[in-house]
Amino acid sequence: MSSKFDVVVIGGGPAGYVAAIRAAQNGLATACIDAWRTAAGELSLGGTCLNAGCIPSKALLESSEIYHRACHELGAHGIDAGEVRLDLARMQARKAAIVARLCGGIQGLFRANAVTALAGHGALLPGNKVRFTPHQGEARLLEADHVILATGSQPIELPSLPFDGERIVDSAGALELDAVPHRLGVIGAGVIGLELGSVWRRLGAEVTVLEALDQFLPMADAQIAREAERQLRRQGLDIHLGARVQSGERSAGGVRLRYEDRQGSHELEVDRVVVAVGRRPHTAGLLDPLSGVVTDARGCIEVDAHCRTSAANVWAIGDVVRGPMLAHKGSEEGVMVADLIAGRYGHVNYAVIPSVIYTTPEIAWVGRSEAELVADGVAFKAGTFNFAASGRALAMDQAAGIVKVLADAASDELLGVHVCGPMAGELIAEAVVAMEFQGTAEDLQRTIHAHPTLAEAVHEAALAADRRAIHAINR
Ligand code: FAD
Ligand code: NAD
Repeated sequence: MSSKFDVVVIGGGPAGYVAAIRAAQNGLATACIDAWRTAAGELSLGGTCLNAGCIPSKALLESSEIYHRACHELGAHGIDAGEVRLDLARMQARKAAIVARLCGGIQGLFRANAVTALAGHGALLPGNKVRFTPHQGEARLLEADHVILATGSQPIELPSLPFDGERIVDSAGALELDAVPHRLGVIGAGVIGLELGSVWRRLGAEVTVLEALDQFLPMADAQIAREAERQLRRQGLDIHLGARVQSGERSAGGVRLRYEDRQGSHELEVDRVVVAVGRRPHTAGLLDPLSGVVTDARGCIEVDAHCRTSAANVWAIGDVVRGPMLAHKGSEEGVMVADLIAGRYGHVNYAVIPSVIYTTPEIAWVGRSEAELVADGVAFKAGTFNFAASGRALAMDQAAGIVKVLADAASDELLGVHVCGPMAGELIAEAVVAMEFQGTAEDLQRTIHAHPTLAEAVHEAALAADRRAIHAINR
């Protein structure tokens, strides 16, 4: 096998594998090194996203939601299903099959595009050389005109609560539990805490969420966050804000947590704990001190707006660089870099990256929140619409939540769209397209939305921004 490539990508997650495929599509001889292995020792492309993140979590969110509905919500539809039984092993096997299928799919795409997949560890050396150390066998040197670093991120460990892989687990461990814990502690009410807390709550666990900040979901629009918090509490997530964990120790049956909040010190006894307090860039063993690539105080590889590092022809993308840790953000950076390397146009619109939290209801947004617009001194108008007035949402028995549209008071340009409600993650796509084209509230107003659909709520919220909603009283 050749040791000389046009492009070597280190990391085969959604940033790296997408960059590799696009580079190959651009006619560049491309290799992608990835270290992820299945239990059987096989290369498993797809990174955190496919192996232990987006995909397995969504598989469990879907299964647990169906279980919850079967247990509690079929009666409202006039369906008596009798006794509903949970077979967690089968639920987990379904999840594993989806992961295996998608990871295998990437291998197939690599073969179809003639990307060379290399199973093992990659390290960047000076002069655009890469040391490839396979899982078995001798290390060898690869030469590349361009190197793309896409090594992703890792969960942050709390010194007071180190992972033990059994009772104190990270998100990967929380996706693999083989029994529903009676009492589950979740540290961090961020995206992972809420999604995985929801999974185990729906399957029957008593879930207590300890969040250090006083504010719930500070990155979301405050009105949307309030609505989401109300709905999630209603489902039984016991959320404690302003709760700082002091220590955790293994007790006879589980873990004893000590935390402090405004009321004082508390003890909480749980069977298992999921620590989900954020992720940090993964660069362990990646950068030779003379490689010329610089990291910042948070450990992110420093890059410019086009993902160029400080070393010539070395690029970095995805979770290992600044910006939101989202699969689609990394993938778009991968496409941009592979196109720029090939001499084509490449660009990522960082202002229009959608965020989705896959709870019930889902929470999704794009653009700026009301608080951000106020802070930026932008004059804006706001329109909201409640799913309670949506025929489709009522028919689905999922009428909780709202859509909020924010548009510039003078130009009418869309500045932010925020949704807490059924299928919010799908609904937000319309807003993303509209904002990508610098659309206005009027553009959404004049676009015909099929009836009865959830998307009508986006239409009505846009109309409400000009006090012209049809199915709501305009105030
Ligand atoms: P990664 O996916 O982390 O991939 C990096 C790869 O590089 C890994 O395979 C790693 O083994 C490999 N690697 C690292 N160092 C080396 C080395 N030196 N040599 C060789 N290989 C190396 N994002 C969303 O957008 N939507 C979601 O719904 C979502 N859900 C998530 C759920 C969970 C539980 C978690 C943990 C994350 C979720 N994310 C989600 C975040 C998403 O997974 C990440 O943003 C995304 O995977 C980042 O992609 P990446 O390619 O930068 O890194
Ligand atoms: P996060 O940053 O979303 O949330 C971490 C939470 O933990 C924050 O609210 C923080 O205040 C809190 N926290 C920090 N230290 C704490 C402490 N000592 N005690 C109590 N609370 C503490 O991080 P995450 O949930 O771990 O997710 C990591 C990344 O993965 C995120 O950046 C997210 O973008 C990505 N992700 C995305 C999705 C999605 O797109 N649906 C799903 C899962 C993960």
